[in-house]
Amino acid sequence: MEKIWLSPPHPGGNELKYIQQALGSNYIAPLGPHVDAFEQKLANYMGISHATALSSGTAGLHLALKILDIGPGDIVICPTFTFAASANPIVYLGATPAFVDSEETTWNICPNALEGTINHFIKKGKRPKAVIGVHIYGMPMQLGAILTICQKYEIPLIEDAAEALGSVYKHKKVGAFGVMSIVSFNGNKIITTSGGGALVSGNEFYTQRAKFLASQAKDEAPHYQHSEIGYNYRLSNICAAIGLAQLEVIGERVQQRRDNFAFYKRELGLIPGISFQNEPADCFSNRWLTCILIDPTANNGLNRESIRLLLEKENIESRPLWKPLHRQPVFKNAPYFGGNVADRLFETGICLPSGSGLKKEDLLRVTRIITCF
Ligand SMILES: *Cc1c(COP(=O)(O)O)cnc(C)c1O
Repeated sequence: MEKIWLSPPHPGGNELKYIQQALGSNYIAPLGPHVDAFEQKLANYMGISHATALSSGTAGLHLALKILDIGPGDIVICPTFTFAASANPIVYLGATPAFVDSEETTWNICPNALEGTINHFIKKGKRPKAVIGVHIYGMPMQLGAILTICQKYEIPLIEDAAEALGSVYKHKKVGAFGVMSIVSFNGNKIITTSGGGALVSGNEFYTQRAKFLASQAKDEAPHYQHSEIGYNYRLSNICAAIGLAQLEVIGERVQQRRDNFAFYKRELGLIPGISFQNEPADCFSNRWLTCILIDPTANNGLNRESIRLLLEKENIESRPLWKPLHRQPVFKNAPYFGGNVADRLFETGICLPSGSGLKKEDLLRVTRIITCF
């Protein structure tokens, strides 16, 4: 039986052509015309004025926090229910992550718990310096409520849209709401540059800072002159060539992932105890990964681990939902605010194969195993 992967790369068709162009013109450098075109097209697609192509989404978060002057002693709020890369850059800068629980509908940061957390720190005389909001599995967070809170307390919002390229909140692409936002082009994301990311922003100053810091912070001088510590975070022109081909098919990729979700919902939605991530009326998710929750009290022996092992036996990759960051050994001393929503998501949830290249037979192979249990 051929392996079915969770979320493998899916070529668009023109990758080789653009790579050959890049090689042919000898732009094998970390900058070049393909990077410029990729940034332009990404910004256009997202409806945001500026994009900076980077070596990863994690690098984008690191730069965004650095540009907001976050450093030792500062508090940065982050959802607990996310990948570690959402929080690691906080620690790179010597700041402290404060983790917040999810709400039940979208699984993203709970606005009430967020406001409670902000008040907790303000009372201690320690206003949080930034909020990192994540659109988990592509589902937009409750941006209306979250932006209202951020504005009320004058705390900038950074959107981690690593999983959510193509998702929409109230007619605007996610990534257009924060002071800065990041997307990822890692190999498992909805489109890929093999490895890469971008920082997007409507703010020209932040964009100039990002480009400066990402290219070793070189002052304007004929010699090498530095007044700040820089990073080597730009995307290679070859990788940008792959990204250009991938960006041509992003619309199809979103539709294919949404079709996967619709198929799973149709086939599995009537099984007692199985439920899905909700898409509120204002939201349009790219459905990067389709995830199900399995209520272990509703079925005989059906739970997230039994399903994962059954799929594994049939050469099908699946994964438990994110383990909450406040439960990770490395973050065990970080403050946490909320209840056990994220804990329950982790304990009962599983991500099903969600690649945009999945065929009907592949999807049926997955659902038959679960329905025949
Ligand atoms: C993938 C991912 C990142 C990191 O992106 P990279 O490009 O792999 O560095 C950050 N946050 C979330 C939520 C992600 O899923």
